[in-house]
Amino acid sequence: MRINNVNLTPTMRCNLKCKLCGVLVPQYDYRPQMDEQEFNETLNALFNVVDHVKRLQITGGEPLMHPNLHIILDDCFKYSYKFDELWLFSNCSIPFRDNVLSVLKKHKEKVMVHCSDYGKNMDVSQTNNKLLVEAEVPFKYLKYYGENQYFDGWVDNGDFIAHHRSVEENEAIFSSCTHVNRGGSWYIRHGQMHWCGRSIRGTELNKIPLDKKDYLDLFDTTTSADEKKKLLEELMKVRTITACDYCNGYYGTNDISKRYPAGEQI
Ligand code: SF4
Ligand code: SF4
Repeated sequence: MRINNVNLTPTMRCNLKCKLCGVLVPQYDYRPQMDEQEFNETLNALFNVVDHVKRLQITGGEPLMHPNLHIILDDCFKYSYKFDELWLFSNCSIPFRDNVLSVLKKHKEKVMVHCSDYGKNMDVSQTNNKLLVEAEVPFKYLKYYGENQYFDGWVDNGDFIAHHRSVEENEAIFSSCTHVNRGGSWYIRHGQMHWCGRSIRGTELNKIPLDKKDYLDLFDTTTSADEKKKLLEELMKVRTITACDYCNGYYGTNDISKRYPAGEQI
């Protein structure tokens, strides 16, 4: 059982309030945060079922809002034999703490930091970039302000409002989705493993009906690891998920989707 992308969200808190946040962080007060124990249980449950992950992605929310991000990052590397790379996503508008930099440096052979700069706190962003260079931590700087924004800016995935499309239309949305075409951009929270961040966010907010067919319950103690592997194989074969009817659709790298300036604040 090999998976390309798994996203873990230590915290859904964020210091920014982006109008087009794809997972609607600022729009809803519920912003769950995992403590180190829950994070470890999530890692254990994941790697009990999945043999290998290409990219383990730490995202949110803003991961730097978690007070013990350094511990959480270090804990991931207990499983370094099970993944190729760890990508840390940040809006880079909060200073990188020494303890976080130190862990990133310790594991720099497998680390890639993605600094998305929305132009909101550019002094901090530039200092962070300097610190990453000094620590020799690989990172990508993504310019998301002014002219020539990375990816031409953002797409608008919409609120969690049902579109009432036909099954065929939702299958088309699903098959066009960038996340799906990457083999899934799997998100895990509350032990639930979903195809994408919108599915998990919409269901945890009770904005999208939670259907057992749309996720794998990694914390289910009545199901063995082998049974969970089979359930995950089945989940990987679905042609759409409930959340697609509540999404404008991510078209990603083709030019169908209109682009908007990134990081506009509410
Ligand atoms: S930085 Fe903006 S897009 Fe990213 S999680 Fe925070 S509010 Fe959402
Ligand atoms: S809800 Fe469907 S279309 Fe939207 S991001 Fe998730 S898988 Fe893609």
